[in-house]
Amino acid sequence: TAAVSMALSLAACGQAGGDKKDDAAGSGSSTKIGLLLPENKTSRYEALDKPQFEKAVKAACGDCEVVYNNAVSDVVKQKQQFDQFIADGIKVIALDPVDATKAESWVKDAKAKGVKVVAYDRAVKGADAYVSHDNNKVGELQGQALLAALGDKAATANVVMINGDEKDPNAALFKKGAHTALDGKVGKIAYEASGEWDPKIAGEKMSAAISSVGKDKIGAVYSANDGMAGGIVTSLENAGIKGIPVGGQDAEVAGVQRIIAGTQTFTIYKSPLQLAPEAAKFAVNLLQGKALGAEGETDGVPSTLFPPVVVDSKNIQDTVVKDGIYKAADLCTAD
Ligand code: BGC
Repeated sequence: TAAVSMALSLAACGQAGGDKKDDAAGSGSSTKIGLLLPENKTSRYEALDKPQFEKAVKAACGDCEVVYNNAVSDVVKQKQQFDQFIADGIKVIALDPVDATKAESWVKDAKAKGVKVVAYDRAVKGADAYVSHDNNKVGELQGQALLAALGDKAATANVVMINGDEKDPNAALFKKGAHTALDGKVGKIAYEASGEWDPKIAGEKMSAAISSVGKDKIGAVYSANDGMAGGIVTSLENAGIKGIPVGGQDAEVAGVQRIIAGTQTFTIYKSPLQLAPEAAKFAVNLLQGKALGAEGETDGVPSTLFPPVVVDSKNIQDTVVKDGIYKAADLCTAD
């Protein structure tokens, strides 16, 4: 009768209300995985990392969906994006931090709210997992490849080093690795500055290096990545400097094209086909409460680090083309 049906509908209301709450807090959102990438001046993030991560998450979890944002190099913006994901009920965030030190407290906040963080490519202390390439090795390979390209000229060469953004812990590892390979083996590091992971700033620093060292006295240029190498090569061309070794990183399409054109000597390939699926595996396992399956540990964080590979004019086919990252036709420029 009336009393019974009232009790039933109240129970149903309670039920429905409960469901709704669960939804907002998790179950409805728990199939979502957040991906936060740091910038868009470097092409790898939106050309390679994002699509490969989305693909790998789908393969590991058919019901899962990736929610994405890019901080465009702005740490304040990235913090808002991170907080928004948490407010939206996302339980696992793959974070490639603009500023890894600042991100440590975000990870703590997330932990207190039951949200897990996978540090993507750049390490964050206290994260639940970390996936990257061996970044010290990246720097060493860069230094060694530059040395090999200099050949007999190494011992007297003035080398210009344009490093990455210091808020990124990888930048320090690349720099350290490169110094390990170059110091004592080249004439001298004649100019060194941070290009802040920005092609324009890197180009300006290169112009400053040319003024300070002298147009005809530069033996080789170390650029921490291909994006910055783009700005650097333009500065060299504008100054009429030709034929000196220039190295980068990321095997981004423009970098590989410059290698074919002869304006860049090598790059470092860090396969997104290794990085993105491992990050996706970590994220899905964390979401589903399963064991991570990490290969090791970095600063107490379970991690997998993949080996980087030098790409020069001789092995483009055997690396990025063979992996299907680029088609040969993508790499052939008009000039
Ligand atoms: C990445 C590089 C990238 C650079 C600039 C580093 O943390 O490892 O691949 O070129 O950031 O975004």
